[in-house]
Amino acid sequence: MFTQSGELVIISGDKFKFKTKFIKSLRVRIAMLLILFVVLSCFFLQLGILKSYEQRSVAVRTAEIQSQCTILGNQLVSSNYLKNTDSAVINAELSQLSNLYNGRVVIIDDEFRIVKDTYNLQEGKTIVAEDVVKCYRGEQTVNYDEENRYIEIGTPILDYDGKHVLGMMLISVSTQSIRDNVAFLETNADIWSFCICLVAALAAAMVGSMLVRPLKRMSRSIEEMIKFDGNYLHENAYNETSLISDAFNRLWDRFKLLDESREEFVANVSHELKTPLASMKVLCDSLLTQSDAPVEIYQEFMGDLSEEIERENKIINDLLALVKMDKTGGNLNIESQDINALVERILKRLRPLAEKSNIELIFESYRSVIAEVDEVKLALSVTNLVENAIKYNKENGWVQVSLNADHKYFYLKVTDSGIGIPEEETEHIFERFYRVDKSHSREIGGTGLGLAIVRNAVIMHRGAIKVHSEIGEGTTFTVRIPLNYIAK
Ligand code: ADP
Repeated sequence: MFTQSGELVIISGDKFKFKTKFIKSLRVRIAMLLILFVVLSCFFLQLGILKSYEQRSVAVRTAEIQSQCTILGNQLVSSNYLKNTDSAVINAELSQLSNLYNGRVVIIDDEFRIVKDTYNLQEGKTIVAEDVVKCYRGEQTVNYDEENRYIEIGTPILDYDGKHVLGMMLISVSTQSIRDNVAFLETNADIWSFCICLVAALAAAMVGSMLVRPLKRMSRSIEEMIKFDGNYLHENAYNETSLISDAFNRLWDRFKLLDESREEFVANVSHELKTPLASMKVLCDSLLTQSDAPVEIYQEFMGDLSEEIERENKIINDLLALVKMDKTGGNLNIESQDINALVERILKRLRPLAEKSNIELIFESYRSVIAEVDEVKLALSVTNLVENAIKYNKENGWVQVSLNADHKYFYLKVTDSGIGIPEEETEHIFERFYRVDKSHSREIGGTGLGLAIVRNAVIMHRGAIKVHSEIGEGTTFTVRIPLNYIAK
């Protein structure tokens, strides 16, 4: 039982999935819209044409009867029928008229007395209906009773001069023949509409699949791009598909570039991490092969080992800092900070490093600056810039850090009297692991990640960084950061 009911649930689930898939299909929706359009068009067209046909037929019949009434009215006056209804000719004409239209003719004199009723029901009686009164006033009346299917026409009978009303004539005629014609046409129209809808359904199914064909081609091409790294999308069937193709191709390029840079990054990381390890291995192996090596050699090698470990540690720390920035994205710990104090603290910490190469560290502050920043990330950036200015400097050189601000931004400039950077290299120095002189950078403990960290931190603060350098003269890095943090 359980299994059975379980199976049933699965089937109904599949059915449901199929149903939603069917309804969500663009092809089906286009086809359904076209069919709906054709069905509604047929319906309203049929309704409109039949209605106009009926109205036109009623109007023609009314006009016909009115003209007959006028002729008959003249004959009634000339034969003085209102006073004497014995005229066999007139009576024959009246009954012919009522037979012809399957209706009833009632003649009323000027005292509202019925002098003739072709149904012979109310002769001699007095009638004071609204239409009769209107006719008495000289007006013609027409009423179409759609429900009971008859037209009632009231006509005044005028004397020769056409001024005095001598009597009234009421004629009611059946419109059943018109209704029969309409019903016949309706049946025909229904058959035609059904055929048109069938053809429309077939056409709609074809048009639906034709219209979505470019989309199918697009999805096939995308599949191929993913599977075989195939050609770019070129679907120009519609303007919209061209736009989507272009946008997708741009996205694809970006994705490939990202993938390449990710692969390059992983290769760089493993290479950089392996280099100190390889040095350590060489040092250890050579110690192991020299069983009777003197203590001095041990001490020297241990010192080298310690340096390599320190280097590995620095690479890992820089990598972690970068990855953390990438991961946390916009997660900055923004607080109002005294930037002057922050820079002074960093310079104090780096002074011993500068003194090793007899480099003068100068801080020039034009005003006190308070800004909304992430203290840790900004401090890391300033440290990297000043550290580079010291590392890539000359003996007895100088490093000048200046701080200024306007109403919107603060500007931090780090200028050095160092070796400088070749112009063609300046656009690359912010890339991860990029070093102008690899061996020199490694010698002085560089990882090639420092400026990438600086750029990331500056961008996170919605700031900008610029570099200007002259070979042999020195380098200036200018950082511009908004005083008030701009949340996205
Ligand atoms: P590294 O850890 O190698 O210093 P960075 O990303 O901090 O890596 O810097 C990238 C490269 O830019 C450095 O290897 C160096 O060649 C060059 N560079 C950075 N700052 C300076 C500077 N102040 N003067 C000269 N060259 C610099």
